Amino acid sequence: MASSYVQSVVDKVRARYPYQPEFLQAVEEVLFSMEPLFNKESKYEENAILERIVIPERLIEFRVAWEDDKGKIQVNNGYRIQFNSAIGPYKGGIRFHPSVNQSILKFLGFEQIFKNSLTGLAIGGAKGGADFDPKGKSNAEVMRFCQAFMTELVRYVGAQVDVPAGDIGVGGREIGYMYGQYKRLTSKYEGVLTGKGLKWGGSLARKEATGFGNVYFAQNMLKAVGQDIEGKTAAVSGSGNVATYTVKKLQQLGAKPVTVSDSRGCIYQPAGINFEALTQVKEVERASLSRYAELCKDATYIPVSDYPANQHPVWNVGAQLAFPSATQNEVTVEDAKNLLSKGCILLSEGANMPSTLAATAEFQKAGICYGPAKCANAGGVATSQLEMQQNAGMTSWTFDEVDSKLKGIMAGIFRTAHDTAEEFGQPGNYLMGGNIAGFRKVADSMIDQGVM
Ligand code: NAP
Repeated sequence: MASSYVQSVVDKVRARYPYQPEFLQAVEEVLFSMEPLFNKESKYEENAILERIVIPERLIEFRVAWEDDKGKIQVNNGYRIQFNSAIGPYKGGIRFHPSVNQSILKFLGFEQIFKNSLTGLAIGGAKGGADFDPKGKSNAEVMRFCQAFMTELVRYVGAQVDVPAGDIGVGGREIGYMYGQYKRLTSKYEGVLTGKGLKWGGSLARKEATGFGNVYFAQNMLKAVGQDIEGKTAAVSGSGNVATYTVKKLQQLGAKPVTVSDSRGCIYQPAGINFEALTQVKEVERASLSRYAELCKDATYIPVSDYPANQHPVWNVGAQLAFPSATQNEVTVEDAKNLLSKGCILLSEGANMPSTLAATAEFQKAGICYGPAKCANAGGVATSQLEMQQNAGMTSWTFDEVDSKLKGIMAGIFRTAHDTAEEFGQPGNYLMGGNIAGFRKVADSMIDQGVM
């Protein structure tokens, strides 16, 4: 039975934003999971925290006009959503993908508030992006777009104000072009973006951090139930930044990742994914995974047109461990049932909100180790903050130093989610534990800072 406070806020959000399904999904997932907190503490309702926290402090939408290689003017919608700055300057990625709209960026920004809080670092929540598709564009077109995007964004960001990073469609190349334009417009060489190149202010291990961090989180979950990663078979979706370094860390720890995917198809390779072939195809050639199957003759390529309805083949290969690392709502309830019926004991979310609400309910009902995105993929933003620390201190740490801090942060997030779940009588429920722990710190800070 939903508490009347949570229900009334969810009802208001539903009525106000009926056309923002992803945002509504994120709000429902977070708010309903925290009911035990509101049953115990009245201060959040007395201070109207939920009513405030579901509305961004600022939502900026802007025009991005640029010229393609033929001299034709192209126009995209750009956004920055500064959701919550109660515990620190805004921090969150920038996504370039044709599907980007207010609903998607609001869900991502909302989740980012609690994720950033869970890292234990002083960072507020934000997200941004554009409905621009870097795929199929020349380098020069991507550069002109990034410059046009930053020409507007420059008014709202700064090393102490709002520090964006990458996300889908925004990697080292795009961060470089945006950083160059920021510098040109402001004459400031400062840590306004993270995910920078290693020669100009980036941090070692930032590229690896989200994937590595997710595997570290999984390790912690498995240890709590007396299990280990070594020797287990893993299904990974996606083949971008997060997926690639999830594959790498799984292999380093003795597991066998057997799948990867992109928006056009997926790979199943029972002998294990070939990391060198994966990075050659995705980081060097920027090609589709059909090219991977040309390089690895023992790999099977399945195009999207051959997928069964509502099911993704990567979740049906009999893997014990699952790491969705592509995009939102990629794990359906049918996928959840396939995973569970074939012996999956752990699912840890590299992507943001990759499981539908119904799929999440299946994992929780089955009692497997379920690592929600806010906990499991927080290693990326945490290491971005380590990049900010290095920039502010005008220093740089070794790969091992950053990696060991990342490991410590992921262990800390696990411990926080674990202990909070126990405090509220639901041991092992890291969704509830993570949400409550992330929320409490932000909400208490909002109360301290007064009505705004
Ligand atoms: P990326 O490097 O751009 O890779 C995204 C991967 O997912 C690509 O393989 C892409 O395939 C696939 N994909 C994207 N949209 C898809 C769709 N609608 N359907 C099917 N496949 C799709 O992005 P990333 O940085 O790895 O991010 C992946 C996920 O992790 C996102 O949910 C992101 O928010 C989350 N995340 C990222 C970080 C980070 O540090 N990068 C941190 C925390 C969370 P195509 O190339 O064919 O499009």
